[in-house]
Amino acid sequence: MRIFGPDIDRPALQPPHSVPRYDLHSHSTHSDGLLTPAALVRRAVTRGVDVLALTDHDELSGLAEAQGEAAAAGLRLVPGAELSVTWRGVTLHVLGLRIDAACPELRDGLAGIRAGRTERARRIGASLADAGIPGAYEGALGFVTSDRLISRTHFARFLVEAGHVRDVRDVFKRYLVRGKPGHVEHEWAGLAEAIEWIHAAGGRAVLAHPGRYKLGTEGLRELLTEFRDAGGDGIEVVSPSHSAAQTTDFARHARGLGLLASSGSDYHGPGESYVDLGDMPPLPAGVTPVWHDW
Ligand code: AMP
Ligand code: MN
Ligand code: MN
Ligand code: MN
Repeated sequence: MRIFGPDIDRPALQPPHSVPRYDLHSHSTHSDGLLTPAALVRRAVTRGVDVLALTDHDELSGLAEAQGEAAAAGLRLVPGAELSVTWRGVTLHVLGLRIDAACPELRDGLAGIRAGRTERARRIGASLADAGIPGAYEGALGFVTSDRLISRTHFARFLVEAGHVRDVRDVFKRYLVRGKPGHVEHEWAGLAEAIEWIHAAGGRAVLAHPGRYKLGTEGLRELLTEFRDAGGDGIEVVSPSHSAAQTTDFARHARGLGLLASSGSDYHGPGESYVDLGDMPPLPAGVTPVWHDW
């Protein structure tokens, strides 16, 4: 299914390169992406990515397949996950990068986060039914690609297919967000415990797309400080969720707080993402890349 129109054959933005190209945020069919882990890795190779992190939401089950394909294709695969966190009532995403997928603390923590998703999805379905859209839970299940995880993205794809909205981006303006039909409150993991699980697994904790949280200047400063003080390692400075001004701002925050800087496309699949794998601008000067000692 194409949701935003053709972007499949667009050439990679960057010229042939001598420094490795990193993309440390992507999704597969093991959460809410459209490509299998192997297909994602093959696409990354085609797009000129040298080092790719697979960071499925609250899930590690795609990593083995991605590792296998990466080994065959000569790409460096960074095992990762994107953890759902609640901080002061706000949902945040924290990337765990270069984690050991066998770590029991991390595995148990993620299983706990996932367990809440099905019950939440039923509540989303009930909320949409109240707004005159019946059958959304069952409809969303039709788009689920892993029996371990259902997300708002699956509801979004259902709402597009059922003709309620034009595309997935439009869904998140009219549905599934605070104040709109299909929005439900949900308690994810705590910030400090998510960082602890990532560290238990030997990984680095990176606050994903900090520009998306609508916290205001002071709230953002408090979040970044608390994240750093809880042991957080870095922030995703370069993300398609950020304007150029935000990127500059987050680079400044990273330097000021002594946090590492990361870069990721947050790729979800052909036709559904703002940028393709690896198609990000370079990190701003003066930051320390999260991969500096890898
Ligand atoms: P969940 O973890 O179930 O709350 O689902 C969150 C997912 O919804 C994100 O990871 C995105 O894939 C998708 N999403 C949220 N907001 C937007 C948006 N504004 N545009 C497109 N996708 C979005
Ligand atoms: Mn997603
Ligand atoms: Mn995210
Ligand atoms: Mn993501």
